[in-house]
Amino acid sequence: MKKTVRDIDVKGKRVIVRCDFNVPLKDGVITDDIRITSALPTINYLIENGAKVILMSHLGRPEGEANMKYTLLPVAKRLTELLGKEVKFISAPEVVSDEVKAAALALEEGDVMLLENVRFRKEETKNKPEFTKELADLAEVFVNDAFGTAHRAHCSTTGVADYLPAVSGFLIEKELQFLGNAVENPERPFAAIMGGAKVADKIPVIENLLGKVDILIIGGGMAYTFLKSKGYEIGKSILDADSIELTGEFIRKAEEKGVKLMLPVDVVCASDFANDALVGVFPADGIPEDLEGLDIGPETVKAYGEVLKTAKTIIWNGPMGVFEMENYQGGTRGVAEVLAESDAVTVIGGGDSAAACSQFGLADKMTHISTGGGASLEYLEGKVLPGIACLEDK
Ligand code: ADP
Ligand code: MG
Repeated sequence: MKKTVRDIDVKGKRVIVRCDFNVPLKDGVITDDIRITSALPTINYLIENGAKVILMSHLGRPEGEANMKYTLLPVAKRLTELLGKEVKFISAPEVVSDEVKAAALALEEGDVMLLENVRFRKEETKNKPEFTKELADLAEVFVNDAFGTAHRAHCSTTGVADYLPAVSGFLIEKELQFLGNAVENPERPFAAIMGGAKVADKIPVIENLLGKVDILIIGGGMAYTFLKSKGYEIGKSILDADSIELTGEFIRKAEEKGVKLMLPVDVVCASDFANDALVGVFPADGIPEDLEGLDIGPETVKAYGEVLKTAKTIIWNGPMGVFEMENYQGGTRGVAEVLAESDAVTVIGGGDSAAACSQFGLADKMTHISTGGGASLEYLEGKVLPGIACLEDK
């Protein structure tokens, strides 16, 4: 267990908090502020407990230069509105300037300031001690609350933990509680649903989960490589030719370990990768030569649903079909509905799977939707995330 802000005394202390304020912007306007609102519980806790709060984040890819296209000024303004109190912001190209240092020292209990985009400094992504030291010197305590960058060892995500006592904020705590517990300590039966476009992207995840789950359900584009390895003809469906052997091995391994591995029994096929190219539903072992599978079929959804109903923990990564197109969203919707109705702990880890749940209006029916795309994937691979490893144990 990692220490959280609750486990330390923050009163009167300068606390530097790594947030994930990497918000989508259009013409300098924030189009979705969920990343800012999700950070509020930690910030408010610190304010209420008398900390002097110094926030830091990256935004976009300024590549180590002070490119004002990526200034955090819009975030400072939005935060000021959301907190109902001024968030001091000094747009220093070097992030930590003399003016910034003075402002940090002048903070009073409950005050909040935001530093400029940490990726304005080229040292940031290389975790160079020069910049780390400047950041650490501003504060007395480090709080990491940016799960989305926890898989990266940067100055602001892990470096500062070399100099300051380091604990997690509530967002990372929640990720560890749900994603972490689901993977490490699941109530069984434990099912994983894997989908998405390519097998190659998810091989390490499947490998890791095969050693942990009781049920492994495969859908999405990756299913066709599995079907191919069983000797089925898959027409023009997406195929990862280099992974055929490996998927065959996964099928054998699952058998050996007693993991119930499920593949589509029917497939929604199209003549082209387009919504209006829909042809119809075919059995998984009868995909016509000139068609491609763009979704799992209704029989598959039914079969998956029945097995998922027995599960107590379900992790889902990757859509079952090309859900962006109306004609191929049935499988993803069907699985999302099963999870929404399930009493199991349901954890969604994956940007597109999370987007699908929101699109269907089912996001709040899930136990937990992980916020870090790359970070949750690495977590599911069983990797140690440096931004979490650097935090103090309880
Ligand atoms: P996540 O972000 O949840 O981890 P991925 O990024 O791995 O998911 O995959 C999502 C993409 O996979 C979606 O854009 C979806 O259209 C695509 N996809 C799903 N099924 C198929 C398919 N049968 N053929 C081609 N692409 C597919
Ligand atoms: Mg994705």
